[in-house]
Amino acid sequence: MNTPPEDNDFFDICIVGAGMAGATIADYLAAKGVKIALVDREFSEKRRIVGELLQPGAVETLKKMGLEHLLEGFDAQPVYGYALFNNDKNFSISYNQDDSTNYHGVGLHNGRFLQKIREDALSHDSVTQFHGTVSELIEDEKNVVTGIIYKEKHTREIKTIKAKLTITSDGFFSSFRKDLSNNVKTITSFFVGIILKDCTLPFPHHGHVFLSAPTPFICYPISSTESRLLIDFPGEKAPKKDDIAKHIEDNVAPYLPDEFKHCLTQAMAENDYKVMPNHYMPAKPVLKEGAVLLGDALNMRHPITGGGLTAVFNDVYLLSTHLLEMPDFNDPKLIHEKLELYYQDRYHANTNVNIMANALYGVMSNDLLKQGVFEYLRMGGENSGGPITLLAGLNRNPTVLIKHFFSVAFLCIRNLSGKSKMNLSNVFRVMKDAFCIIKPLAINELRPSSFYKKNTQH
Ligand SMILES: Cc1cc2nc3c(=O)[nH]c(=O)nc-3n(C[C@H](O)[C@H](O)[C@H](O)COP(=O)(O)OP(=O)(O)OC[C@H]3O[C@@H](n4cnc5c(N)ncnc54)[C@H](O)[C@@H]3O)c2cc1C
Repeated sequence: MNTPPEDNDFFDICIVGAGMAGATIADYLAAKGVKIALVDREFSEKRRIVGELLQPGAVETLKKMGLEHLLEGFDAQPVYGYALFNNDKNFSISYNQDDSTNYHGVGLHNGRFLQKIREDALSHDSVTQFHGTVSELIEDEKNVVTGIIYKEKHTREIKTIKAKLTITSDGFFSSFRKDLSNNVKTITSFFVGIILKDCTLPFPHHGHVFLSAPTPFICYPISSTESRLLIDFPGEKAPKKDDIAKHIEDNVAPYLPDEFKHCLTQAMAENDYKVMPNHYMPAKPVLKEGAVLLGDALNMRHPITGGGLTAVFNDVYLLSTHLLEMPDFNDPKLIHEKLELYYQDRYHANTNVNIMANALYGVMSNDLLKQGVFEYLRMGGENSGGPITLLAGLNRNPTVLIKHFFSVAFLCIRNLSGKSKMNLSNVFRVMKDAFCIIKPLAINELRPSSFYKKNTQH
């Protein structure tokens, strides 16, 4: 562990939260010589059900930052595409539509991955580790943030760290987003996470999406012997143990392929599951000198598409790129300009990731639309090739997303006519449901800068 220097007033950046966002940006910037204080309340390995499937977009950004080695050495698994299941029908879609590309995602244990990133970050001399809980941002008389106050974990002493910039990346229950944004956070549903051991997936090295049940569930490999099953539990109230058991019995088990059933029974018998809320929180940052939000503290979307880390790494790269354009951290006005550019540029990087996540969750939770999306993707060609690049976080053009979204809605209407259910009220219902899903997302996420790269070529 790097020991804190006597006078800690010399840090360029203080990072609050050494999670996925904080540890990654520390690692990337430290390699460029930036002096960093990295603070977290807990540095030991966590058992989490979040951030276990990296889409190819996340993997590509890690490569761009020269950090792909962080995915090695802990039994992470390559993921080559998705398989979809609806009643007795299933099919798969590859991330690569032909031989011209070679994209892949990665399934992994988030705790192991995070420890690897932290270890790499802390191996740099320019990173100093602080173990404690941050309670406050320090502001000077002009309301500029100049550092933080924290309680040291072992001594329980209250201490301060001064830095020229404070990055708050303290995750989904952030204590500091209220100071730095006008966020409105909603719980869309809960995920019950279960590890299936020694379960052979019908499509090895693929994400699996199950649509037959009343609410969707997904599954993907996280090591060579384990797969993560994430079961959606709708509503804003956390399910109790009995609710979970009943939900699994009624709405999951009957719809699972046979090869999963034994593994699920075994995992439930061991009570080996975790529950997490799924949030939607569009980014609404408030510019404040000396501080910036990063990661889930700034922006969250439904995890059904595994888009979180694509957005996190996009933001890490964009913020870093702007900061590294400065000769040093001695000009507060220049730092402020760079924060403003980062908040603008991230629309282009993340609009599709955010809309896709919540739109797909909305579609998959809607009886008519989910049949439409299954049929649409099953047609193959551009109907599956376009959407998979969006899901993968590789296509940033919002017009492509909107085109496919409404094509699914029109297919639903066409299907209704085929089944002689084509009456005005059904057509109206499909159109209304589609608009209700997409409209708030478009309002929150679409900006002129969503459509083009504005301030940077990166
Ligand atoms: C159920 C679920 C499943 C998900 N699955 C996926 C997936 O498969 N793929 C994907 O890409 N994304 C997924 N996500 C999203 C992804 O996990 C997050 O976007 C990502 O972890 C956010 O990283 P972060 O650094 O912002 O937060 P975290 O990784 O949560 O880090 C926050 C850090 O801040 C520290 N901290 C908090 N408060 C303080 C304090 N006061 N003082 C000091 N330290 C503090 C915490 O200890 C923690 O280390 C999922 C999310 C959920 C909810």
